[in-house]
Amino acid sequence: MADKINIKNLSPIDIEEFIASKGLEPYRAQQIGKWLYQKRAISFDDMTDLSKELREVLKESFTLDCALELSGEQLSTDGTRKFLFELWDGNRIEAVLIPDKRRNTLCISSQVGCALACKFCLTGTVGKIRNLSPSEIIDQYLLVNRYSGDSVTNIVFMGMGEPLDNLENLVKALNILMDTNFLSLSAKKITVSTSGIVPKIRELGQEVSVNLAVSLNAPRDDLRDELMPINKRYPIKELLKESMRFPLPPRKDLMFEYVMLKGVNDSIKDAYDLGELLRGIKCKVNLIPFNEALPLSYRSPSRDSVFAFQKILMSYGINVRIRKSRGTDILGACGQLAASYPAKPAPIKAQARGARL
Ligand code: SAH
Ligand code: SF4
Repeated sequence: MADKINIKNLSPIDIEEFIASKGLEPYRAQQIGKWLYQKRAISFDDMTDLSKELREVLKESFTLDCALELSGEQLSTDGTRKFLFELWDGNRIEAVLIPDKRRNTLCISSQVGCALACKFCLTGTVGKIRNLSPSEIIDQYLLVNRYSGDSVTNIVFMGMGEPLDNLENLVKALNILMDTNFLSLSAKKITVSTSGIVPKIRELGQEVSVNLAVSLNAPRDDLRDELMPINKRYPIKELLKESMRFPLPPRKDLMFEYVMLKGVNDSIKDAYDLGELLRGIKCKVNLIPFNEALPLSYRSPSRDSVFAFQKILMSYGINVRIRKSRGTDILGACGQLAASYPAKPAPIKAQARGARL
C-alpha cells in the first residue's frame, strides 16, 4: 500500500475534492477542518460527528502526525523566543516569536535555506536545500501557539527561505490559515515577504489576498543587482509595477523593507533616491538596520545615519518606521536564521513518510 499523506498537507479545497471523490456531502470537509484545526483532534477517532466509515477512510489515506519536532528553544533578553525544529529528514528550521505591546508576531520559515543568494543574508549563504511542505509551514504556527499559550496574533513569512519560490505549498498553507472552517486567521494579520520574484507576485495575488512586504534594499538597479541577484531578472521598475497591483486586504498598505548596510546603501543620496522612487506610491517603509552575522562582512549602520535616512523619507510624506532588532543575542533577528544543516541522518521510517511529500 502507498504511504499515507499527512492530512495537514491538504488545503481546504483538497479536502473538499477528496470528500467529493468519495461521494460524500461537501460539509464533511468543513467538519474535518474544524476537527483538525479548531478542536485539535489528535486522532481520526476523535472526530465523533463523522461516520465510522468516513473515519476509517481517513485513517486508510492519511496520518495526522506533527510534521516537526521541537529540538531547541532560546529566549532573548528582550522576550523574543526562537524555536528550532527538526524535520523528518534531519534538516532544521527556525521560527521566531516576537512579543510586542499589542501583538505577538510569529516569523515563520518557508524553505530550508534559500536559492536567491542575497549577499547580506545568512540563509542565502546556505543555498536552497528544499521547500517546506504545507504541514511543515502550518505546524510552526500550531506548535509555537501551543508552547506559548495560544498567544500568536500575527504571522510573517520572514524566516528562512523565499516564500514565492515555494508558491504552491505557500498558497495551501495560507488557505489553511485563513479558511473560516480551518484556522480562521484574518488576512490582515498575515504578511508574505518577498525578494521580488515578479511573476510569482502576480500568481500569489490571483490566489489570495494578504499583506505583501517587498524587500527592496536598494533604490537603484546597479546597487540592487549587486545585493540581490534576483534583480537582474526582475528589475526595480517591474517589481514596483507588479507590487502595486497586488490585492491587499482592505485598508492595508504595501510594505517595503530596506535593510541598511553601512557604507553600502545608507547614504543621504540613497535616501533621496528612495524617496524619489517611491514618490506617489501608497506604502509603508520599514528600515531594518543590518543584523550582523558571521561570516557576512557587512556592518550595521550608525544610529545617526538611520535617523537621517528616515527623516529624508519622511520629507517625501512616506510612512517610515525603523524596525527594532529583536532577538539579536540569540541570532533570532532578520537574516540571522541558518540552522538548516541536517542534525543527523533521517531515520528510515521518516524517510518513507517524507518521500510522499
Ligand atoms: N525571502 C524573503 C523573506 C525572508 S528574509 C525576503 O527576502 O523578503 C526577511 C527579511 O530579512 C528581508 O526583508 C531581508 O531583506 C531581511 N534580511 C535578510 N538578512 C538580513 C540581515 N542580516 N539583517 C537584517 N535584515 C535582513
Ligand atoms: Fe532568500 Fe530572502 Fe535571504 Fe534573499 S533575503 S537570500 S530571498 S531569505
